[in-house]
Amino acid sequence: MQEKLIPMAYHRQLNAVPTVPTALESPTGFVADTLARPLQELRISLTDRCNFRCVYCMPEESFGKDRIFLPRNSLLSFEEITRIARIFVAHGVQKIRLTGGEPLLRKHIENLIGLLAQLKTPDGRNLELTLTTNGSLLAKKAQSLKDAGLNRVTVSLDSLDDATFKRMNGVDFPVSDVLHGLDVAHAAGLGPIKVNMVVKVGMNDQEIVPMARYFKGSPFILRFIEYMDVGVSNNWKMDEVIPSSEVIRRIAAHMPLEEIEANRKGETAGRWRYQDDSGEIGVISSVTQAFCHDCVRARLSTEGILYTCLFAAGGHDLRALMRDGKTDQEISTAVAHLWRSRADRYSELRSTTTKGMERAVKKIEMSYIGG
Ligand code: SAM
Ligand code: SF4
Ligand code: SF4
Repeated sequence: MQEKLIPMAYHRQLNAVPTVPTALESPTGFVADTLARPLQELRISLTDRCNFRCVYCMPEESFGKDRIFLPRNSLLSFEEITRIARIFVAHGVQKIRLTGGEPLLRKHIENLIGLLAQLKTPDGRNLELTLTTNGSLLAKKAQSLKDAGLNRVTVSLDSLDDATFKRMNGVDFPVSDVLHGLDVAHAAGLGPIKVNMVVKVGMNDQEIVPMARYFKGSPFILRFIEYMDVGVSNNWKMDEVIPSSEVIRRIAAHMPLEEIEANRKGETAGRWRYQDDSGEIGVISSVTQAFCHDCVRARLSTEGILYTCLFAAGGHDLRALMRDGKTDQEISTAVAHLWRSRADRYSELRSTTTKGMERAVKKIEMSYIGG
């Protein structure tokens, strides 16, 4: 029988409550870490639950019926999320991405979006508010998300072939429903929409060229993601990763491509355009060409733990600060202190030095920390 897993085991003894430095630093204002990377983006996980069981994220063997997810009262409330987001925005965050787990499973998510959409950057601009989803509930939700103030969505889709997609999502979910969700989201004005495809050797690498062909010339920007060693459940192996260079080689053999400039510093995807002017694709090479040097993202887990790296072994419990009655100023000072102390560059170290490091480090599951 499968061992029961208690959510706290993800991070037990790791979620240290950050100390609040007293009047050491300015509680608001832009902050940069020890490698001069500014704090610009916040990813917020709204739930650790998901209606899919993707083989690379929440495989059924580890996330079966016996899996115990976080209890409702440990989740941050919408007010708590908004309070933390406001503090991060005062420190320079311009973009917030809602994720999970599957964020559209969080009840009344539109109310949260409505609250976040009211936040302004210190110079009075609106935030960029986006959400990553598996697309299963998108057709139903797209219009209400847009009406609440969401700017864009990113949709995950690993194959156009039903059998392959069903094998990868683990719950027999059909491709056609995700494609319908994409169309409805596009019509609702949630674009430009990016489509994320995680490529895993022997699972869906035969789908690289068909996916490229399908989305070429469409309003959707397809991005190929290298399969990453996040968490421990997926039993990641380096030889299951298709390097982005190989993805580009395979597509360019049929549809010539050329590399183009990033839209902005810190962008995770490398950009390539079709030479016949029919759009572009992106490649996210987290394994073979790590981009830690430009990483400006903080992550807030479902229960309010701040992680400064996707691969961090431990986080900092902001929920405890809030529920202990700390003031905005005290929490803000703690956040500034944590970001200024940040030195994370896991993927660069994995790529350049330590073979086998992916097994040596205790890691948090993607569905908990937020992808
Ligand atoms: N459930 C939503 C979804 O699938 O879009 C949001 C959460 S999911 C964890 C966020 C993104 O992480 C998805 O695009 C997913 O494909 C990607 N992802 C999950 N596990 C991954 C892995 N091991 N390597 C690379 N990408 C991964
Ligand atoms: Fe769910 Fe997204 Fe993870 Fe797939 S990648 S199991 S859809 S959280
Ligand atoms: Fe950022 Fe950590 Fe990923 Fe490097 S490994 S890009 S620091 S999240």
